[in-house]
Amino acid sequence: MSKDKYSKKDLARFKKEITKRIDELNGNMDGIRDDLNIDSKGNASLAQDSVYSVHMADAGTDSYEREKGFHLMNRETDYINFLNLALQRIDSGEFGICAVCGKKILEERMMEVPNATKCVSCKEGEKLNLNKV
Ligand SMILES: [Zn+2]
Repeated sequence: MSKDKYSKKDLARFKKEITKRIDELNGNMDGIRDDLNIDSKGNASLAQDSVYSVHMADAGTDSYEREKGFHLMNRETDYINFLNLALQRIDSGEFGICAVCGKKILEERMMEVPNATKCVSCKEGEKLNLNKV
């Protein structure tokens, strides 16, 4: 067994952690959707609403809050996509392996950034190269 790879046990632990995060995020998303009155298909009538509610006293705050909610939802959707990618990498055996040097990426980093594909030193090296150009 190679030391440069995560064991099946490690991967199962990562998988559990990532799945838990996805569940939590999906829970958050339901909350945001409720706040935004988005229907189950994900449709929202934000544009019309903000036009028609312009004369309402608190319309400004209201549409600002909604806009904030949309941004948050986009960000969380992106993050869920990243986490799903990480799960795919676990299944394909690429998870936690640096795409540049092929070494095992530190566990702390994988917990923090589950979709990381490069180890810290390769990522740092990339930055240095970019600075040279
Ligand atoms: Zn590397």
